[in-house]
Amino acid sequence: MAKHGVSAQTTIADSVRVVGIGVHSGNRVAVTLHPSDANTGIVFLRTELAGRDVEIPANWRAVSNTDLCTVVGDPARASIGTIEHLMAALRGLGLDNVLVEIDGPEVPVMDGSARAFVEAVDQVGIISQGVRRRMVKVVKPIRVEHNGCWTELRPYDGCRYEVTIDFASPLIGRQALAFDLTPKAFRTDVAGARTFGFVKDLERLMPMGLCRGSSLENSIAIKDDRVLNPDGLRWANEFVRHKTLDAIGDLALSGAPILGLFRSYKGGHRMNHETLKALFADANAWAMVDMPIRRESPAAEIGTGHSAPLYRPDQT
Ligand SMILES: [Zn+2]
Repeated sequence: MAKHGVSAQTTIADSVRVVGIGVHSGNRVAVTLHPSDANTGIVFLRTELAGRDVEIPANWRAVSNTDLCTVVGDPARASIGTIEHLMAALRGLGLDNVLVEIDGPEVPVMDGSARAFVEAVDQVGIISQGVRRRMVKVVKPIRVEHNGCWTELRPYDGCRYEVTIDFASPLIGRQALAFDLTPKAFRTDVAGARTFGFVKDLERLMPMGLCRGSSLENSIAIKDDRVLNPDGLRWANEFVRHKTLDAIGDLALSGAPILGLFRSYKGGHRMNHETLKALFADANAWAMVDMPIRRESPAAEIGTGHSAPLYRPDQT
């Protein structure tokens, strides 16, 4: 069985809603995921703007900011921030086509991980659309370097992430994760890893109107090399797991899933974005490929109580 899992395009079986607060604004925001047609990809629909809705494709070309989170759209008109954990959930679960309706300028942070979005998808289930999945196949290595940090995309028969972080804080230190992306592995190893921050940074950002919604409910807070959250960490290496989650979400802006190996050393949203820019800037570095469709088992690990032809994305 190929490492890249099933190869027909998918969408969700029904609409489902997630409500939470935006980590920067602190305001309540609702996201509704809707099924959408094959070959439409992930598209954001920003509502609640002066009398009009604005569509923003979840594509690297639409990225307008990567400072603290990944933002798509024009900030002067309509943009949507903190898309990475939701994008990671959609990519991690193998969803190709979803319309994401949102009534505010940022995706809700929920618990700081992708767990709430995975649970939302599980409420309705995933359906196969019987149309070949297209993938962006990496055919030549690409490397981006900046101030001692680097990222790479390399040819690989699968979807693999090798992420290393190295923080001066002894609490985090150097952590590495090598991860083959399948829906099953995504659920168990990455989806629940929360975002993290240092209290000293928060004290600097909050007066700038950022991170107003940040709390121990939605991030790991670190002060003087201690975790302030009363329940501690979900994994000893939750930090690198979260950076992997971010990378999956950011690379999901490639327009179609990437068939290749992504490697990162001290990367982040900006480096992830620069990697996609570098890949697509070199026409010899990638090829769009149609994946053959395999017959799937009707049994589904996702979704409950639905008679729709659910299928299981983790056939590896
Ligand atoms: Zn994150």
